[in-house]
Parts: sequence; C-alpha cells; structure tokens
Amino acid sequence: MTQPSTPAPAGASCPVTPEDFSRSLEAVRGRIAGAARRAGRDARAIRLLPVSKTVPEERLRAAFAAGVTQMGENKVQEGLRKSRGLADLGIHWALIGHLQTNKARDAAAFADEFQALDSLRLAQALQRRLEAAGRSLEVYVQVNSSGEDSKSGLEPHRLPAFLEALADYPALRVRGLMTLAARTDDRERVRACFRLMRELRDAALAEGTIGPGLLSMGMSGDMELAIEEGSDCVRVGQAIFGARAAPHSRKRPEHGGPQAGAPA
Ligand SMILES: *Cc1c(COP(=O)(O)O)cnc(C)c1O
Repeated sequence: MTQPSTPAPAGASCPVTPEDFSRSLEAVRGRIAGAARRAGRDARAIRLLPVSKTVPEERLRAAFAAGVTQMGENKVQEGLRKSRGLADLGIHWALIGHLQTNKARDAAAFADEFQALDSLRLAQALQRRLEAAGRSLEVYVQVNSSGEDSKSGLEPHRLPAFLEALADYPALRVRGLMTLAARTDDRERVRACFRLMRELRDAALAEGTIGPGLLSMGMSGDMELAIEEGSDCVRVGQAIFGARAAPHSRKRPEHGGPQAGAPA
C-alpha cells in the first residue's frame, strides 16, 4: 500500500467525465475511511467538502453528476459567478478563502457558509448584509495554527475573546474552526497544527462559545493527519479535480495544469 499522505499523483489524471469523478471520489473516500479506521472514528461523520476553485463549470457539472452536491471556492467573485452559472443544480456553496470587508455583499449573495471569518469588521459587514437579505450564514473562524505570515486567520491566543464577541452578530451562526496547516513535509509539524486546533476547540466548547465546535481541517496532502487529530470536515481539491496550475506554489506543478479555466 502506498503511504497516502501526498496528493494524488499529478499528471495521473484530470477527471472530466462523471465516471472519472466517481473514481477520484471513491479514492478520496477510501483515504478518509482508512484514516478514520486508524483513529477509531466513524468515517460517515467526516464531511468531504470538494474544493472546486479554478475548475471550470462544465467539469463541475460532471462532478455533480457523480454526486458532488457541495463545493468550496476561495475567491468570492469566482464563487458568485459559478453559483449563478450552476444555479439549476442547487449546489451548497462554501466560501473558504479570505474575504475583504468590501466584498461582504457578494459573499452574502451566494455563500451558504463561510469558513474564513477572521475579523470583527468582517463579521459586522456580513451581519449588515445578511440582515438586509433576511438570512443567516454558517461560519467557521479561521485560525492561523502554523504561525506562518502568509496565512490568514486569527492568532490562537485571540480566539477566545473573538468567539465571545461574535455573540453580537446573530446572523452569523458559528459552527467551528477552520485552519490550513503548516506548508511543510514535516508531518509532526503539520500534526501539531491540527492538534492545537483541537485543543482550542475543546476549550471553546467548555466556554460554550463555538456552537457545535466542528473542525474544518485537512486538504489533499494532509487529510489523513487531520482526521487522526479530529477533523470533522476535510476540504479536498486536487485529489478530486486533478492538479491545479499553482502560480504561488513553492514547487512547480508536475504537469502543465489541466484546466486554468480554458477548455481547449
Ligand atoms: C485550495 C484549498 C483547499 C484544497 O486544497 P487541495 O490541495 O486542492 O486539496 C482547502 N482549503 C482551502 C482554504 C483552499 O484554498
């Protein structure tokens, strides 16, 4: 058996048809089930959120045909555009990336949940837009668990006061915490990020400030570690949709990047 802690081999596949997606989804579910088994957890309790960023709409329709009914986008304009283009499918949209306060209206217009809340200014802007729209939004507070400057999210020590303050924004329904682990091949450093999240979550549960206290953590490269440390939601892009061309990646994608929005 291969050690399943790295993304699906880039270049191996770029799923296009529903059959392709059935296969890639099955492989990811297998990884989730394996990690859950090792951790003595029930795999059915772990949510798989497919991350559809950069993937064009035709391929998302094929993924939908293979059973994908929720999608994560990290950019508000791209999410808004896709939610309109795919409105007939009734997808559940999760906005999982940093959001600027002046984009709160667009986020409130399409997102069913927001996983990257990290400032009270943003909470206030969302509250106003949601109130105007007569709706509420599920939110996860993003925490910078790695200490890396490049990452958004609250510093861990600020979390307790932040969660308390969120009580003033009733349109935001707090579901839990989200993080991106350290970007490193050092598995113990990655694991330490996830473990810190679990400790922060447990403390907040004791305070009663975090709703159900779910943990959104783990991606294509580190979902097993995240599940072993208690993740309730893994956000998986490349292992389902194929490797992305990654302009900001520390390493070159192993092949040209299958999509970048431009069907041949
Ligand atoms: C892109 C992204 C993911 C998924 O990463 P993959 O490596 O494609 O699995 C998860 N979470 C966030 C916030 C992302 O931006």
